[in-house]
Amino acid sequence: MTRPDLGTVYLVGAGPGDPGLMTVKGLALLRAADAILYDALVNLCLLQEAPITAELIDVGKRAGRHCLSQTEINHLLFELAHTCRRVVRLKGGDPFVFGRGGEELAYLRANGVPVEVVPGVTSAIAALAYAGVPVTQRRLAANFAVITGHRAEGVADEPNWAALAQLDTLVVLMGVKNLPHITAQLLAAGRDPNTPALAVRWGTLPEQEVVAGSLATLAGRVAEAGLEAPAVIVIGAVAALAETLSWFPEQRHLGNDFDDVKW
Ligand code: SAH
Repeated sequence: MTRPDLGTVYLVGAGPGDPGLMTVKGLALLRAADAILYDALVNLCLLQEAPITAELIDVGKRAGRHCLSQTEINHLLFELAHTCRRVVRLKGGDPFVFGRGGEELAYLRANGVPVEVVPGVTSAIAALAYAGVPVTQRRLAANFAVITGHRAEGVADEPNWAALAQLDTLVVLMGVKNLPHITAQLLAAGRDPNTPALAVRWGTLPEQEVVAGSLATLAGRVAEAGLEAPAVIVIGAVAALAETLSWFPEQRHLGNDFDDVKW
């Protein structure tokens, strides 16, 4: 049961970076917010849309350092609901794609706080779109999956690589550090080493950078180019479409040219 005496918390997706990719509904809520709690990957220029009276709280993680723990964030949202009518919890991309939005929703609901969810444009699809890679394409890819490449420390819970190796398009978030491991596992599971693969850093932003290769070469090329997080990695035939379909004028192509990529 929600408590009518409490303000509403809106779990809002900020989109992947380009501020134009935030939803109209999310923007309207931002403009009416009493408090905004935002994450590290949220484009800070969106905060200019907030009323000057709104409280802006940075709860993001940077370089492995957590500003606030998830429990602390949950408690803070709960507290703010007592003093604010509209609390916006602003998250990069979509709140429910590796954004822990589900946990916040569960906690707030369990404590009687009214909550609404405003989905966002996820980087898993949009960063690739801005690199000229459609996640599905007739005859090339009829399915896609999005996985995390980040493994919790000390936990050896490997995904089912044999199953993942069967998918047409595999999209990996938070995968830069573990890329050598990820590609090795897919190769071991029988995926063709010549499968096109590509990494997009800071997708949809003027800083967008791309490194292309194959399943066999991408990890080496990413390391060589010094490409770091945040990046979306795609493995599958559609990655090769970037060579002809990339359209984003600001994109930089790191390392070697597509000519050099052996698919
Ligand atoms: N909820 C977010 C994902 C959060 S996990 C979403 O839906 O997009 C954080 C990861 O998202 C990063 O490590 C990176 O893999 C990816 N990411 C987010 N924004 C990105 C961007 N602009 N370009 C490339 N990758 C991005």
